[in-house]
Amino acid sequence: AVEAKANPSIQPRPKIFDEFALTDRVALVSGGNRGIGLETAITLCEAGARVVYCFDLPEEPSEVFLASQDFVRKLGNNSRLEYFRADVRDQQLLWKKAEEIGDKEQRLDICVAAAGIVRPGTGCLESPEEAFKEVIDVNTNGVFFTAQAAGRQMACFGRGGSIIMIASAAGSVAVKGPEVTSYTSAKSAVLQMARSMACELGCKKIRVNTLSPGYIHTQMTGAFLDMHPELLDEWSRLNPLGRIGRPDELRGVVTWLASDASTFCTGSDIIMDGGHHAW
Ligand code: NDP
Repeated sequence: AVEAKANPSIQPRPKIFDEFALTDRVALVSGGNRGIGLETAITLCEAGARVVYCFDLPEEPSEVFLASQDFVRKLGNNSRLEYFRADVRDQQLLWKKAEEIGDKEQRLDICVAAAGIVRPGTGCLESPEEAFKEVIDVNTNGVFFTAQAAGRQMACFGRGGSIIMIASAAGSVAVKGPEVTSYTSAKSAVLQMARSMACELGCKKIRVNTLSPGYIHTQMTGAFLDMHPELLDEWSRLNPLGRIGRPDELRGVVTWLASDASTFCTGSDIIMDGGHHAW
């Protein structure tokens, strides 16, 4: 008995995989129409979330989103994917939408801020004002407004929550390329934003973490590769695994961060870049 007291890890507790289950949770995902956002949304459904609200810019959801909705329906776990249109830069609209979700579902547990843009163009000395500001606006302000809208609902329901901001390995490792200064600056700001929000919201059991992927095959990177196919080799050589990543390789860590398996993790940055930062 003395030994059991000293070592709480041998007390009765949930099975380890049960701690990853998101049964009945409600989530909000920005940029969920495609790419990493959509992959994240599907994953949350697979882990049992009751409903995942994805939002994005287009008026109508993409074909891949509609196919994913169908995929989720067929999981047979009563999970569902919803879509609405909103610009992450519109703070008032995000507050309103998050409130509507809260009113309807009576909870909001998970938020993934995945919407992001990059504007390939000139070098840093020629960068036009509008392009620079747009990248900062979407990738920094937009992430804040998304997290803020969700955090307000989480605070309101008093159950805590998990906010995951998709930053980038490029927020802490320097990369070269046309028009990356705006992108890397914005992502770097997100890392510090998450730490500050984590400190402020810890007392409400709201956790805020960043996930920083390296190069991942999506439309975002595809646009560069279409223009410069030779970049694939260059990017692959940047890490010890010798390749770029796939969106589904982020599933495990997203589920972990969203779930009760990570309740002591906040203000952290999880890097998933094939070892680029260690190279
Ligand atoms: P995609 O370009 O495939 O998807 C980005 C999504 O964000 C799109 O659905 C896009 O909408 C949406 N979006 C853009 N602007 C806004 C806005 N103002 N309001 C609402 N939604 C918006 O990119 P990824 O899936 O690759 O990237 C997802 C996140 O991961 C981004 O934050 C990105 O910076 C980050 N990341 C990506 C990496 C990669 O290698 N792919 C590496 C590291 C980080 P629309 O369909 O209208 O364009």
